[in-house]
Amino acid sequence: MSTLKAVRGTRDLLPPETELWNHVESTARRIFARYNFGEIRTPIFEDTTLFARGIGEETDVVSKEMYTWEDRARAASEKAQSLTLRPENTAGVVRAYIEHKLGETGLLQKLFYIGPQFRRERPQKGRYRQFFQIGAEVIGPATAGSESPLRDAEVLEMLAAFLLELGLPPANAVAPGWRLAINSVGSAADRPRYVAALREALREIAPTMCEDCQRRADTNPLRVLDCKVPEDQPKIDALPKIADYLDDASTAHFTAVRAALDACGMAYTVNPRLVRGLDYYTRTTFEFTHDAGLGTQNALLGGGRYDGLSEMLGGPRAPGIGFAIGADRLVLTLQSQAAGSAVGSKADVFIAPVGDAQNPAALKLAQELRAQGMRVEVGDGTFRVKKSFEVADKLARKIVLLGEDEVASGVLTVKDFASGEQRKMTQVELLATAR
Ligand code: AMP
Repeated sequence: MSTLKAVRGTRDLLPPETELWNHVESTARRIFARYNFGEIRTPIFEDTTLFARGIGEETDVVSKEMYTWEDRARAASEKAQSLTLRPENTAGVVRAYIEHKLGETGLLQKLFYIGPQFRRERPQKGRYRQFFQIGAEVIGPATAGSESPLRDAEVLEMLAAFLLELGLPPANAVAPGWRLAINSVGSAADRPRYVAALREALREIAPTMCEDCQRRADTNPLRVLDCKVPEDQPKIDALPKIADYLDDASTAHFTAVRAALDACGMAYTVNPRLVRGLDYYTRTTFEFTHDAGLGTQNALLGGGRYDGLSEMLGGPRAPGIGFAIGADRLVLTLQSQAAGSAVGSKADVFIAPVGDAQNPAALKLAQELRAQGMRVEVGDGTFRVKKSFEVADKLARKIVLLGEDEVASGVLTVKDFASGEQRKMTQVELLATAR
């Protein structure tokens, strides 16, 4: 029989790597709490219409990458429904905001999420079909300050604080690190004017460009700006710039975001081509890339403002801004840096019962040490002492030998693998060494 494997583009996450994942997730929870965010958990699948309307039919995500199926009707009275595994989480959060009338509180909603997303992309390092995002959204009625440029800057500053807490500083002249690029894609009114100008400019040059650009020039001209084909770059750089099509309010908003970022010493560059892959973005867009460990998939996280999304989904006006961090890529980055190795993966002690008869006492000792917060592995009385040492050395920092004498006297024989020192100590002393 052929052996079964995880589906292409999906993977199992195993210990000790999962320890790093937990570290990343718990750091996000801790830092986001300082900014007063609360957790939201939305379903993993939603009505297909949510993504088609929210993200945009012409985007790559919706037109090519979604896992969509017809859910069979279970009764004559039921209609078949088209369902989709969520390719991102912003649309789901905004749907929940509308459904639970969160806007009626009159307050800003600050929500974060952690979970899997699904896109049928070509798998490669840092790009999977099931991947994980850690994201957050700030959304609410305009009267709650949701449109303020302060919100944009605060979210960006929070991201910098989160990355720094993980041991990832910004890049500088000598060391690799993250880089923040920002842009403004204008308001819902600015964009059509810019897209029209882009379409006009592309009419002549698109036929000389790559196949993707030719298609996008027609269906979604903004996407042309994402093209990575080297020969197309000078042509793209010569296209009209969105900055020249922003109205006064959008320009003022962008200036204010930059002033707030400058005030807290954030380093960034303005990238006029940063329009991002989803249609709902308005005004501020941003992306953090990282120099180390990611190769071509170097976008660590992305986000932006989506002032019209709630209305697009049939809700009240609710401007908002959010981001999604690619957790898989963040873990890859940490693994490539010394920062990832700071997370220990060995148990504090390995208890080695010497002889079957000591198994119950070994389990009791483990119970007591674990109750005191120690991380404990227990061997088995059938192991020879040599084997116990070999296994313990792989799994733990210390071995506790538990023979008949130790059980009778309560004095344990403990060897520390790092120092090579072996000595007798009581349970209380052992606990003290682990502190
Ligand atoms: P997006 O929702 O496209 O704005 O993506 C936000 C972030 O999620 C990106 O910057 C990546 O870090 C991550 N991401 C997006 N697609 C994938 C994927 N297929 N595999 C792994 N990470 C991804």
